[in-house]
Formats: sequence, structure tokens, C-alpha cells
Amino acid sequence: MRTLYRRTLGLAVVSLLAASCWSGNEEPTEVAQRLKRRAQGPGKGGKAAAAARPVKPKGPAPTGPNVLILVWDTVRADHLSAYGYGLDTSPNLKAFAKEGVLYERAISPAMWTLPSHSAMFTGLPESANGATADHKWLDDKFPTMAESFSDYGYDTYLFSANPYLQDHTNLGQGFDAREYPWDPKWKRKAAANTRAKLIADDASTELSPAYVEGEFSSGRPNDKVKEAGPVSAEALLTWVDGRAEAARPWFAVINYMEAHAPRIPSIESRSALFDVAAIAQQKKVDESYGRLLAYTTHVREYTDAELATIAQVYDASLRDLDQATGALFDTLRQKGVLDNTIVVITADHGEHLGENHLLDHKYSVYNALVHVPLVIRYPARLKPGVVTQVVSNLGIWGTVADLAGAPPPPAGTLSPSLVDPSKLMPEAFSELVAATPMALGRMAKAGEQFEWGPFLRTYAAVQDNAHKCIISHAKDGTDEQRKLFDLVADPLEARDLPAGKAKEAAALCDRIVPWRATFTAYDPATGEKPPARASDPELAARLQALGYLDEGTAAAPAGDKPATEGK
Ligand SMILES: [Zn+2]
Repeated sequence: MRTLYRRTLGLAVVSLLAASCWSGNEEPTEVAQRLKRRAQGPGKGGKAAAAARPVKPKGPAPTGPNVLILVWDTVRADHLSAYGYGLDTSPNLKAFAKEGVLYERAISPAMWTLPSHSAMFTGLPESANGATADHKWLDDKFPTMAESFSDYGYDTYLFSANPYLQDHTNLGQGFDAREYPWDPKWKRKAAANTRAKLIADDASTELSPAYVEGEFSSGRPNDKVKEAGPVSAEALLTWVDGRAEAARPWFAVINYMEAHAPRIPSIESRSALFDVAAIAQQKKVDESYGRLLAYTTHVREYTDAELATIAQVYDASLRDLDQATGALFDTLRQKGVLDNTIVVITADHGEHLGENHLLDHKYSVYNALVHVPLVIRYPARLKPGVVTQVVSNLGIWGTVADLAGAPPPPAGTLSPSLVDPSKLMPEAFSELVAATPMALGRMAKAGEQFEWGPFLRTYAAVQDNAHKCIISHAKDGTDEQRKLFDLVADPLEARDLPAGKAKEAAALCDRIVPWRATFTAYDPATGEKPPARASDPELAARLQALGYLDEGTAAAPAGDKPATEGK
């Protein structure tokens, strides 16, 4: 079953999220049993309880350090003061990075939540692990970093404010315990944290108190727990302290959503970066999800001043994120566990803020989306410093395994340790394997001459320290286009160069095919079928609040409709 069109927003979308792309073969018995066990877990969809996966008895406790991976969802490196940005958006990360290694040019292999996390967790790129907009599921057959640490004897924990890291995508593999800000245990505190940031006369987003539904509104989603940074710190520490064996090392991943739209940064963070007049303007510019998409699709423009205001709100949200993370660092330091913990701070992807006429994080592999922060602190093994060479976030698993003395990622993965960059390949790759044509039906209706084609293309990119090549194709694989960039002179990829004037970049393009030959491409015909799930209105609302909900593609011209639902 591949083709799914809907004319109206319906709750059935949640079950489709998981079930849309099963294409045939019977599952192997073991996989079927594991899926069945998960389907019978204590929670469903967004209501998943903390321990949806049966916890296996652990062997002897390893002697290695703890591992803490903090994923700042939707954070681009170049807007962080730790990376030289002009506004002090990340004072805590800046100070923290001085005690660790800052990778100046860390590249994410993917550009939205599902494929980026699945790549980080498996050490395999999107085209190998198959978790795409067409198949929103990480197959059980791929070993994950959390599974490896759990099998090695670590206690493992996930706290995610992003609803994609749940049962319906199978991204929770290997975590003994999983918690979310909408769990009954944390919901009240997460909602209170969100409420405390709301400004009465802010009309900019769907979550803002003074928001008025406009031409591109899709309702007022009632998901008010996404601002969960401080709650995630409390949840982690509560879990750490509540474990059966205090001496056993732990492996934890936290996903933060403060920088993800709809953005509602605190007045404290706005005031730290901007004057009163700028803040007044921030509250007026319509940043609702549909309005952002209307700009990207050329259906409605923003002025340059409005785009600058959107970037300001983004910057203030980064400061909120940094404050919450700094508080966690302080607590870990006070408890005396920080130095015995490998801490990784990174992002799954960035955010467009108007470059190349794009907002949000769809439809491109430009560096606004794939150049992400990466800081690793572990004083026992890492001398503080800066790595200037381009590296791929696929290497996070290999790196923490190396530092912890844990088993390395299995053969066949693309996850080398990043500890010694001189041993690494000089390029990093990014992909957009399946287009995410979400909500474009509404844009097509609003735009007089809307063209679907540009939003259905697939992309592959390769970059080294100086140049970048992006190759894209139409949905049917035809119409290859190449764009070449000089990243030193043009870091935001505003001007693609003729091949004759960018010979080094043109040569880079030839690296993509050999790179893809180093791994086995995912074959949808032998992929796993996600377990069928009942519709979950709460999860649907949560995804809608973050712009992750298709609203129909019926307006597309015949023969040019996307063959999949959006993410
Ligand atoms: Zn994300």
C-alpha cells in the first residue's frame, strides 16, 4: 500500500504514520514476536509508559563512564554564540565547550527528525536504514546505540519532547525506560513551564495567547508541553537516582524542542538579546506553521524585516534551550557525576530562516539544515580543543563507544570514532531520500500557479571543508540537477557556481555514488511492517502542533500528486 490521499484532516493519520508503507513480505518470526510484544506494551502511541520495552536482566556492571546525549532539536550551528554568532544565544554551551571538544563542522546525515535520529541511533544513513517520510519506522533488524549499551550492561533512558521518538516510529529501541513530557508524571510541570513563557499580547504562533487564526491557520493545537527542557533534567535525575543499582553506568538521550516551531521564547531570553521595540515586533509577525510554509512555497511573501524578526524569535528560543541545558550541567557537576559522564550536545537538524527562500526544515539539504552543533566533553579522554575538519554525526555512536570502552558499532555501519579526526574521511554526506509534501494541498489552493515539482524532489549532498555538491532528482528519478558551492566564500549557499568555476566542488559530486556503494541500500520490499495501532487523537494533536500533519493533497494536478503522505 503506497498511495494515500485524504481530503480532510482526520484522526486516522496517526495509524497511517506507522502503517503506510508495508509492501509485502512476511516478517521473520523473531521480528514478528518482538513487534507483537511491543504492540502489547503498557501504553499506546503518545500514551506510552516509561518502560514499554521489557527490561532484560543485566549482566555484571561495566566499569565505564555514563553517557549523556543531548539532542537540541532544530538547532543550526551558525546561530549559536558557541560557534561565533554575534548574539549570545548559547553562553552555557560556549563555556561548556571550553572544557571539551567542539566540532566546528559537524554535518547531520539527514534534515528532519525521523531520519536524523534513526541515522544517529544506527550509524547508518537514511537510504540504508529506511526510516523516511515514506516509511516512518526504524526496522527492528537494525541494531541501535541504545541496544548496544543496554546489552553491554548499561541502564538506558530516553526523555523526548519530540513525539517522533515513540512506539509509532520504533525509535525507542534499546531504552530500558522512556519518558515524555505528556506522561501523567510530567505533564503538569511541562505545561506550567510552557505557561510561564507565554506572553499575553504575543500573536505570533498557534500557542501564543493573542494568536488570531488567519488565512493559513490550521486550528489552535492544544499541545502545551513542548517546552520541557527543565522537566527533562528533573526526569533524568529522578530516573538516575531511582535505579536498582546506583553503581551501574547509564546511557541517556534527551531531546529538547524549544527551538522547534511554534516558538515561544521566554521574555527573559528575548530581553537578554533584543530591545523593547524589537520584542514588540516579534509578537506581531505571524509565524504560524501554515504561514511559514506559505513563504517557502512562494504563496505569500515576508518582507526582509519580517524574516529578520522570525530569526530573532528563533535566537531567543536558543537561549531558552541553552539555559535549561546549563542548569542540567550545573546539577550534574554539583552531584559529582559530570566528570564521569561522556556528554554529547548536538542537533538532529537545523532550521531555515529565509535562506534560499525557505523556512522550517523541509525540501533542502543546505547547511542551514545539516550543519549542526557537536560538542563532546569527557575530561578523562578528551583534551579541550576545536576540530575544524568536517565530520558526520553518524560517528556519534562510534565515538561514545570508543570513549566508554564499550563494544563498537557493528561491522557495516558508518560510525567511526571521531576522537582522532585525522583518521576520518574528508567528506560528509547528507540526504533527503523521500520528500515531505505535508500540507501542500492547502498551499496549492491558495497559490494561483503553484508548482508541486520543486517540493517532491530528492537530494544527496557531499561537502568537505571548502566545497559542497548537491545533486537532486525529480520524484521519478529523472531531471538530475547539480548545484556547486564555495562554502568559504558563500557559507549559506546563496550562489551556485558553474562547474567550470568550481572544479573542486564538481569533483566532489563524484563521491556520492561510491559512498552509497559502501552500504546496503534499504529495500522497501523486504522492510518490516509496523504493528497496526489504533488512532490516537492526542498524538495527532501533538504532531499537528509541530506542523507534522498532512492536510490533504487533493488540489494537486492529476498525475503530479505526491505518492505518499507527508511527515
Ligand atoms: Zn527534529
